Amino acid sequence: MIIRLTKLSNACLVVLITLLLATTCISKAQDFNRLREKMVEDQIARRGIKSKPVLEAMRKVERHKFVPRNVIDGAYNDHPLPIGEGQTISQPYIVAFMTEALALKPTDRVLEIGTGSGYQAAILGEIAEEVYTIEIVEVLGQRSDSLLKKIGYQNIFVRIGDGYLGWPEAAPFDAIIVTCSPSKIPQPLQDQLKDGGRMMIPVGDTFTQELVLLVKEKDKLKRQSRLPVRFVPMRDSSGKRY
Ligand code: SAH
Repeated sequence: MIIRLTKLSNACLVVLITLLLATTCISKAQDFNRLREKMVEDQIARRGIKSKPVLEAMRKVERHKFVPRNVIDGAYNDHPLPIGEGQTISQPYIVAFMTEALALKPTDRVLEIGTGSGYQAAILGEIAEEVYTIEIVEVLGQRSDSLLKKIGYQNIFVRIGDGYLGWPEAAPFDAIIVTCSPSKIPQPLQDQLKDGGRMMIPVGDTFTQELVLLVKEKDKLKRQSRLPVRFVPMRDSSGKRY
C-alpha cells in the first residue's frame, strides 16, 4: 500500500514538474514576443524605418534564437551583442536600417558577407527570394547553417569562406550587404552586383567607418554616405584586415 502511494506521489511530482516547466517556457516565449514587439515599436519604427516588409520581418524573426544563452535576456536590447569567436550580432536598428536601404523586392537574390549569428540572413530570407551568405569563421558558419535549416529557411544558402571574393557561381546579385568592414570596397563584390543593384557596406579604418549605399548604374557605382558606424573588420584567411 505504502509503496503504491509512493509510486503515485512520484508520478504526480513528475507531472507537476513537467507542467511547471511547460508553463515557464510558455511565459518566457510570451515575454520574448512582447519584447520583440516593443523593440520594433521603440527602436525601429519610432526611429523612422517605414518599409512594411522590413518591419514585418523584424516582428517575425525570433532574435533570441540567434544569440548565445548567456546573453539571451538582452536579445531585444538596443545594442550589438557578442556571439562568440570575438564577433557580434548587429544592433537591431542597424539591421533594419541596412535592410531598408537595400529596397528589396520579393524576387531579389541577395548576397551577405559575414553570416555571424545568421540573424541578418533570416531577416533577408523573409523578404527576398534567395539569400547567399558567406562566413569566414567555420564554427559560426556551421552553427548558423544548422540553425537556419532547423527554423525552416529553404531559401538561405550558407558558405564557409572568404567573402571578399563574393560568390561568383551565384552572381549577379540584386543586392549585396556587407556586415564586416573593409578599408575599400572589394572589387569582386562590385563586379557581382547587377546593373541597378544596391550594396550596403561599412567602409573605413578599424575605428571610424561610414555605412555607404552604392547603386550600380551602367557599370558605374553611385555612392551615398548614410551613417557613421563601427563594425568588426573584414579579414582574410590569415586574419589580416582587408
Ligand atoms: N550579419 C551578422 C553580423 C556578423 S558580424 C549577424 O546578423 O549576426 C560580422 C561577421 O563577419 C563575423 O562573423 C566575421 O567572422 C565575419 N567576417 C569577417 N571577415 C569576413 C570575410 N572575409 N568573409 C566572410 N565573413 C567575414
